[in-house]
Amino acid sequence: MINRTEKFLKIGNAIKDGTDFIILAHTNPDGDAVASVLAMGLILHQLDKKFTMVLPDPVPREYLFLPGVSDIEITRELPENIETLIILDCGDVKRIKFFSDAIEKAKTVINIDHHYSNNGYGDLSFIDQESSSVTEILFELFEYHNYPLTREIAICLYTGILTDTGSFKQENSTAKCHFIVSKLLKFQIKPNEIYSIVYEQFTFNQFKLLELGLSTLEMFEDNSIAVIHFDNEMFLKTETQYTDVSEFINFIRLIKDLKVAVICKQMKSGDFRVSMRSKSKIDVSKIAFSFGGGGHPQAAACTIPGKIDEVKQKILLKIKEFIN
Ligand code: 5GP
Ligand code: MN
Repeated sequence: MINRTEKFLKIGNAIKDGTDFIILAHTNPDGDAVASVLAMGLILHQLDKKFTMVLPDPVPREYLFLPGVSDIEITRELPENIETLIILDCGDVKRIKFFSDAIEKAKTVINIDHHYSNNGYGDLSFIDQESSSVTEILFELFEYHNYPLTREIAICLYTGILTDTGSFKQENSTAKCHFIVSKLLKFQIKPNEIYSIVYEQFTFNQFKLLELGLSTLEMFEDNSIAVIHFDNEMFLKTETQYTDVSEFINFIRLIKDLKVAVICKQMKSGDFRVSMRSKSKIDVSKIAFSFGGGGHPQAAACTIPGKIDEVKQKILLKIKEFIN
């Protein structure tokens, strides 16, 4: 059992004593990664601290509305001398491997996360797998220390919680998470507007891509596993790209009695990124972990090299082990 108070106190002290911070999150940042970097940056701004926000890959289009987003530096290189490094939403150092030197050289590393695979690297860590998102943890940290929240910070925290709970569809949408959301809504943020910006911005080309992807739909194990894929040829044909697929898994999640939804997305390298969502007790993070990836019981991903048929065969074999 983690000692929340003690850990929050220690992190609070490191923030109080720190003068120069770098905040970063994982590759291919999702809503929680982008929003938690921004929320932490906005709080440090409120506390009059010097800080730099860094992401190793560009911010996806749907999160460009977040306050402060243009101040994030997209880079895979960090300065030589780092005083305080805050790493957010990064369950596995592999996901920030280009920064491994920096982690070793930084005077103080603070690691805040909600992936159960997180081994607590860094000088100070707060890992809570019961939290829906890092943004949920940050809310509690900020509230504990009475840091001055603003509407901008509330927008970031809300967006992180919204996206990491699959818009409150997943099991991690707990009473605590909804209670925190109710406090965030007091900052006059508009859930309908945020939902629309994040989830209702598909382009016509993305729908053409979805059509191609859906035509690959296959069902297995008595219709309890659904698999679709997207390859580079489809991206080329519809003038779209890999990142345009991120929400499509939610379409196949809609299937009745489904246990696991699988979507295979081809990366530029040719390898496939395999995302899974569980609508059952099957813990897809264990399946992803067996391929070197990870995630959460209900949402996880991994990379599998090879041709699409081989990739599908490999992932299916593994899922079947967990279903039966
Ligand atoms: P997605 O399918 O949206 O890319 O990822 C689903 C969940 O799994 C997210 O919470 C994401 O942070 C986590 N995840 C994705 N890839 C990896 C990985 O390679 N390692 C770990 N530990 N978690 C991952
Ligand atoms: Mn997260």
